[in-house]
Amino acid sequence: MKLKFKTIVILLFFTTALTSCSNGSFEPRSDNRLLMGTVCIITLYNNESQEIFDGAFEIIAEEDRLLSLQKENSDLGLINMNAGLKAVEVSEHTYRVVESALGYAEMTEGAFDPTIAPLVQLWAIGQGNTGILPSESAIEAENALTDFSLVTMESGNSIKLEKKGMKIDLGGIAKGYIADRVKEYLLSQGVERAIINLGGNIIVLGEKPGNEPWKIGIQNPFDSRGSYIGVAAVKDKTVVTSGIYERFFIHEGKRYHHILDPETGYPVENELASVTIISSVSIDADALSTSLFVLGVDKGLELVESISNAEAVFVTRDKGVVLSSGAGSLFQLHDSDFKITSPQ
Ligand code: ADP
Ligand code: MG
Repeated sequence: MKLKFKTIVILLFFTTALTSCSNGSFEPRSDNRLLMGTVCIITLYNNESQEIFDGAFEIIAEEDRLLSLQKENSDLGLINMNAGLKAVEVSEHTYRVVESALGYAEMTEGAFDPTIAPLVQLWAIGQGNTGILPSESAIEAENALTDFSLVTMESGNSIKLEKKGMKIDLGGIAKGYIADRVKEYLLSQGVERAIINLGGNIIVLGEKPGNEPWKIGIQNPFDSRGSYIGVAAVKDKTVVTSGIYERFFIHEGKRYHHILDPETGYPVENELASVTIISSVSIDADALSTSLFVLGVDKGLELVESISNAEAVFVTRDKGVVLSSGAGSLFQLHDSDFKITSPQ
């Protein structure tokens, strides 16, 4: 034991010496994997070992196995398969994410609703920009199953869906939760500086070398991926966007995207093209970005102003940018096609 302790002290000393002599600025190193149906990129800055990358990706894969709607043996798969029949015991993690999703459902009076899965599957709006317009009667039938008040959370981490055919989908919240888990893991490994990017759901850990904030691009919702309207300059924050450009298909000239309105059963049609949330906890930012997208500017702004530590950047379909009260100091607009406007 003694020897081990000594080795650790020496190692620590060595690492500190290494870091300080190079002024804390190693070349950043990124690794990526295709997980959760998206590209997950981890960037580390202090010469960390490959094991840390591998450990982070293993957490993503593990959580996805529990939370995926697609996998039959996932916790979600089991809850859904037993809808209308019985409660299913799930992992503590799954229980917590469902609980949090239901919290947002209540907070938004059902604008965010994790029981929207049957409708999500009917629309089947994937990444390939392909899709078929479902019939009105099918939309009505599936949407009758959207009702978060019919999810019963029982003791012992058990969850029951009260109606046959009901299903939970955590697509609007899971990536944020998993990003938080990766952050927790990196911190436990002593990582102080990192970028976690799970398909655009971003957490920055610490600050950029040179005491600078990180600059996270906010996607132009009307352009192809990689073009930004501006940046969020942040330290130790999460930046999450929901928008019309993520997943969609075009039918007879009309765009159908993947965020659905539980009121109508159709993709949300309001003044918004995207909403970005800047906050401290990614599960909240993810749920809020989807929620605010459904709520629209007025109600969305009202909600985000009532939550401490969360800011919003709304981009409207007519190229306006509406900022919550604390977002002005974090967001810089770079594209002159867009104009910052005050809420109506
Ligand atoms: P992305 O996953 O593209 O980053 P979001 O976080 O906004 O975007 O989540 C969109 C996903 O959330 C959809 O693909 C679907 O699985 C689910 N979803 C769609 N509409 C709703 C809704 N009204 N409430 C909760 N979840 C939704
Ligand atoms: Mg979301």
